[in-house]
Amino acid sequence: METICAIATAPGGAIGIVRLSGDDAISLTEKILDRNLQEKVTYAHILDNGEILDEVIVTIFRQPHSYTGENTAEISCHGSPYILQRTMELLIAQGCKPARPGEFTQRAFLNHKMDLSRAEAVADLIAARSKAQQKMAMQQMRGNFSKSLSELRDQLLHITSLLELELDFSDHEDLEFADRSELIALAKTIEEKVSSLLNSFKLGNAIKHGVPVAIVGKTNAGKSTLLNALVGEERALVSDINGTTRDTIEDIVNIGGTLFRFIDTAGIRRTDDIVETMGIERTFQTIAKADIILWVIDAQDSKDVLKELEQQMRQHCDSKKLICVFNKTDLQIPQYIPKGIDTVSISAKKNIGMDKLRDLLKVSTDIAPAEDVIVSNIRHYEALCEARTSLERVQSGLINHLSGEFVSQDLRACIQSLSEIVGDITSQSVLNNIFSHFCVGK
Ligand code: GDP
Repeated sequence: METICAIATAPGGAIGIVRLSGDDAISLTEKILDRNLQEKVTYAHILDNGEILDEVIVTIFRQPHSYTGENTAEISCHGSPYILQRTMELLIAQGCKPARPGEFTQRAFLNHKMDLSRAEAVADLIAARSKAQQKMAMQQMRGNFSKSLSELRDQLLHITSLLELELDFSDHEDLEFADRSELIALAKTIEEKVSSLLNSFKLGNAIKHGVPVAIVGKTNAGKSTLLNALVGEERALVSDINGTTRDTIEDIVNIGGTLFRFIDTAGIRRTDDIVETMGIERTFQTIAKADIILWVIDAQDSKDVLKELEQQMRQHCDSKKLICVFNKTDLQIPQYIPKGIDTVSISAKKNIGMDKLRDLLKVSTDIAPAEDVIVSNIRHYEALCEARTSLERVQSGLINHLSGEFVSQDLRACIQSLSEIVGDITSQSVLNNIFSHFCVGK
């Protein structure tokens, strides 16, 4: 394989690492140094037209004992952007190619160092912003998900081989190697396992992208001010003019180790204005997408106004966690408190009561770093959905005494869906798409 190189560290650190992988990784690195790389770790100087560019430590890994499975070298330079860039230029002048995003991990996959779902977990681990995210990615990277999938595939292959064996003896019409009721039970057990993986996606998604929280309420209740107070930066547009917050704005905040994804919306308000009405529609759509609803109420609002909105909110929030946030309590104490709903009094503008609100958010979700395998990747989710559909067909085929030929086709489709997750059967375009989302240098 041709040798690739990339800066593997983020700018700003004391040390910066340039990484190489490929057949000539070690010999190419030697060409820009003042000595040969005999040892695993070598202290050396990078030479630039005879002058010393930097004092560096070079670590080498000979194939196949490396991350990519190829010869690799890691040059630890001082973290100067100039030194790192110049080192890259010197390597490229020697024939190295700049690496594409994720190319090191893609090579690791192609060299069978890891399966696809484990390679994807590498990207998740790099992006982890909370303990739950780190733990979930680590589970996947350690291969626990792949292991569960391979167990399921083995069981499916077992059923398929029994059915296909029967087909080979199709002259003997009443010959059955496998008891149908046992096969149906086995298919059902596999389907239940696939379903439980699918069910974990909601949790996986919340861990990866944050628990979705909708911030709703009438225009001018202080939703944008609240979002800013939660995010700690002036992100959302704050305005005195009714109806300015038209577009949905999202921000992710880490509260006590859990990520929350706040979605600000246009106010819920009775109106004939078409644009406003669209905003209101969107509010209800946002509520549908969220797990927790922060209903922001201007504490100065009258009891009658509140009671009318209360009905709408209870209707739309149904099975969701609804929290009443009385805002502007620096101006007025609430006139009316709805019954049976968690309530908190704050002033978003004066930063009063915010810790209480954060505590309430924390106890409203049960996201904890889990020991089990959790599905968090949409590609895996879709493949598992297909697998479940095939399994349903397998079961109904067996129940309805369909010819083994058809049942085995559905079984093979199911095995294929599960194989796509670990990358046994994957098209080049899918691979390119996956690795293009990695950072350069990984
Ligand atoms: P939104 O339409 O619900 O997003 O409301 P905004 O966040 O734009 O706030 C509307 C107005 O109320 C702005 O002038 C804010 O400064 C003001 N405001 C928001 N929160 C408070 C608060 O806690 N106390 C007071 N006195 N004013 C607030």
